[in-house]
Amino acid sequence: MPTAIISHVECRQHSMHDHHPEDPRRTDAISDQLISSGLDLYMMYEEAPLVTREQLMRVHDQDYLDRLEEMSPDEGQDLVEVDDDTAMNPYTLQAARRAAGASVKGVDLVVSGKMDAVFCNVRPPGHHAERDKAMGFSFYNNVAVGAAHAIHAHGLERVAIIDFDVHHGNGTEDIFRDEPRVLFCSLFQHPFFPHTDPESDRDNILKLPLSSGTGGAELRQALDEVWLPTIERFQPHLIMISAGFDAHREDEMGHLRFIERDYQWITEQLISIVDKVEDCRGIVSVLEGGYSPSALGRSAVAHIRALARV
Ligand SMILES: [Zn+2]
Repeated sequence: MPTAIISHVECRQHSMHDHHPEDPRRTDAISDQLISSGLDLYMMYEEAPLVTREQLMRVHDQDYLDRLEEMSPDEGQDLVEVDDDTAMNPYTLQAARRAAGASVKGVDLVVSGKMDAVFCNVRPPGHHAERDKAMGFSFYNNVAVGAAHAIHAHGLERVAIIDFDVHHGNGTEDIFRDEPRVLFCSLFQHPFFPHTDPESDRDNILKLPLSSGTGGAELRQALDEVWLPTIERFQPHLIMISAGFDAHREDEMGHLRFIERDYQWITEQLISIVDKVEDCRGIVSVLEGGYSPSALGRSAVAHIRALARV
């Protein structure tokens, strides 16, 4: 099935402190594994455009966007700290514009029927970015920008976002908690960063808090019982994924115990919903976390292989 990888070389130029886990080797690890697995031969490759101000303003406040641009350091200047573990270098905002632009382009390709599935191999990640706040390595909420584009530019009535990163997608929840056209499902280790409420107070927000040490078997049971039937009932016209791979058992950022096959399984379940729901256009998946380069590359390839059905 036609599947595209969207990326851009400028995503590599954003980097924070030495030894920061969110570094350019992450997207390289995925590209390398795509090649060594032979899966790259099945992929179409597309360059990420720059997101527009109008596309960002669907999910972020104007004041916040202005503030980020004012804070952005000039060429040759030092890093600017946004929070304890998030910083901007002179190339950060350009990388973030490419990352959000990839999500928009992915939506265009899938909604138009040119692609069945898209994986955006981009950074910085986005799912911690709230409407008016950068945090947790995130500046623009890439998956939210894409979902809002699907609704406002393409007129889709229902978009499901599935977030399987080890951390709760607090930014995506903040943006869509009062948007019934979006069903947001986030699993996450709990208690853990970003220390949000593990209970949902909205029908369109599903949360699955998992205790430290949870592995694939428990994950599958929980998804089979609640998430998958709920997503199918929602009848999404598009499925988006916040694809973080830091719940892998080799990833020291978190303490869950997923393996490659679990990412493949989740992806296959979502593909089967695409097939069952009338007029569901496909899947747009956007990279979030994943900080063990080897496990990240292997897990992303298992995910992309399932997306491409090869
Ligand atoms: Zn994460």
